[in-house]
Amino acid sequence: MQKILLIEHDNLAAESVAQHIYSHLSIESEIVDCLSGAGRLLEKNQEAYLAVILNLKLSPENYAPFKKIPTIAVTGGAPVSSRQIAFASNVLDYVPDYAGYNLEYIVQLIRRGLFAESYKMLIVDDEPLSLNLMKNLLSNKGYSVIGAVNEKQALSHLENNPGIRLMIVDGDICERNNLHLIRTVRKQYNKNHLSVIPVCERSNEHQRLTLLRNGANDCIDKPLRIEDFHVRVMLNLQLIELIKELTELSNLDFLSRLYNRRYFFEMGKKLYENFRRGNLKLTLAMIDIDHLKHVNDTYGHLAGDNAIKHVADKLCKNLRATDIIARYGGEEFSVLCTDVKPGEASTLFERIRRSVNETPVNAGQNSLTLTISTGVTSRKSESFEGMIHAADMLLYHAKQNGRNSVIAD
Ligand code: GH3
Ligand code: MG
Ligand code: MG
Repeated sequence: MQKILLIEHDNLAAESVAQHIYSHLSIESEIVDCLSGAGRLLEKNQEAYLAVILNLKLSPENYAPFKKIPTIAVTGGAPVSSRQIAFASNVLDYVPDYAGYNLEYIVQLIRRGLFAESYKMLIVDDEPLSLNLMKNLLSNKGYSVIGAVNEKQALSHLENNPGIRLMIVDGDICERNNLHLIRTVRKQYNKNHLSVIPVCERSNEHQRLTLLRNGANDCIDKPLRIEDFHVRVMLNLQLIELIKELTELSNLDFLSRLYNRRYFFEMGKKLYENFRRGNLKLTLAMIDIDHLKHVNDTYGHLAGDNAIKHVADKLCKNLRATDIIARYGGEEFSVLCTDVKPGEASTLFERIRRSVNETPVNAGQNSLTLTISTGVTSRKSESFEGMIHAADMLLYHAKQNGRNSVIAD
């Protein structure tokens, strides 16, 4: 497992930073108090380190050994010139110190560094020089960047790369202005999905306001100032991350970490439409824990919660990442599998039934054995809700037949 290399002469501060990073990311840090110590570690095994946090008097040479590892500089109350040195070098970013927000930002940077490749950005500019400048500024920070020289190219990149989450557009692109592109883009991609930032003359307030009122998330000043450019990108990335986090939270069930019922319906209806048109096969299962009330009454509510987490865990381990596994409510789960071969659905859910039953569940001083009942349908109904009802009826039969069983149609 890769570590963070923390170069900090104040050991107390270093320990607290290391602890903060570990508690948020489960990544350990190695602390050294000088540059030569860090150099020796890197010489031995550069691959062992994921990122460097560097609190040293700033000079370009201090950054030289870390060219290949994402580096976060701690500048202290350094004058503007030191900030510029830190920024012009290949550092990911700098923070003034480890105070509250800055520590949180360090964690964000490391996390983002880990996933930098997954954030795709699009730069649209018909001038090769400024297009390349912006591309380099971002790819130096580890982002994957695509360039476009006109509106047509920009739209086609957006269509072919659904991973693009941020688009920077220069003021004039060929014969059309960026207002046209932004208005066109906004017909298809909303602000939560794609952040659009035009580059415009600082003095042209009319243009800036018009762009912001037509779907731009923010503006970058022209002529470009490097740090301002990065800070605007960084703030917009933070917003995208926040929206992503909130969306995930609104789709997940707190206890089991499975999808919730709302998300199950949202996705289920889309998949059902494709199923109805014959584009894919769909299998829907309703699963209910047997006698959970008895578990609660006998071993307490925590044991009941453990039972729910146990079933969630077995479902995740036995199903594909593309299957949709949800907590339908209480002690009931719903699963949607695509492209299960005819006749294999009952084998699949039989395997899950066994695996739930095979490992005991922690119930405080005791452990208990759990059983589940399952109804499975792979037949088209009049609607998605109809499929749920069909699976529910089969589940009801499984309960009537003595529980701990799978009934498929
Ligand atoms: P059956 O085999 O017929 O399904 O019996 P059952 O006891 O599982 O079903 P019943 O519908 O009678 O009761 C469901 C129980 O599940 C009662 C309820 O308190 C419990 N339950 C639902 N959600 C949770 C939860 O989040 N945590 C815990 N601990 N229990 C829960
Ligand atoms: Mg039950
Ligand atoms: Mg129930």
